[in-house]
Order: sequence, then C-alpha cells, then structure tokens
Amino acid sequence: MALPQPIEIGKGGDRVVRIKWDDGSLCDYTFRLLAKTCPCANCRKRREEAEQKKSNPLQLRMADPDAPPEDPILKKIEWVGNYALRLTWEKGCEHGIYSFDLLKELCGKSEDEV
Ligand SMILES: [Zn+2]
Repeated sequence: MALPQPIEIGKGGDRVVRIKWDDGSLCDYTFRLLAKTCPCANCRKRREEAEQKKSNPLQLRMADPDAPPEDPILKKIEWVGNYALRLTWEKGCEHGIYSFDLLKELCGKSEDEV
C-alpha cells in the first residue's frame, strides 16, 4: 500500500491541526495530542520512565519537568522529505518527526486515548 500523503495542512480550529489526505480522509489533531505523542527518542524515553514511575508506588510522584506543557503551542510545521512532518513546539520538543504513518494512526484519537 502506498504511503498516504497530506494534500493540505492547515488549521482545524483553535489549537488544532487539520490534515487533508490524498486518500480522501480529513483528520484533526489537537496540539495536546500531537505534543503528547512526540515520536523522538527523548520523548519516548521520558514517557517510558513516567510509566515505570507510575507502576512503582514507592517512587515519589514528582512533576516531570520535561513533560509537554498542559497547553502546548505549535510554532511551526515543516515537511521532511515525502514521508513525515516535523513539528516544533514553543515550549518543549523540537525534534519530533511525525511520519505520515503515525499521523494516520493518530487520526480521530483524543489525547486521552494515546
Ligand atoms: Zn520529542
């Protein structure tokens, strides 16, 4: 199956990215969903560690200083070749390369489902 390609990227509302795909689907992504699912190695590691802390009740619950802010602001979106978009957050990660596969997977999900 060919990789889906965005044909239009724009605003889908307040703090929502809307992507129109070449397969005809239209997907809205809240900034919070995207910030929370940053696929870079740093963020993945941070999320894994947060999970481990959760499963260890003896560990002190401390706020994670590197976690994405409650109200992330998207600074820019850039194309990466023909397979991904790079999202840069105002506060937070600048290394997130979101492959089109990942974006299709996130389509229609809320930030509580990821
Ligand atoms: Zn990241």
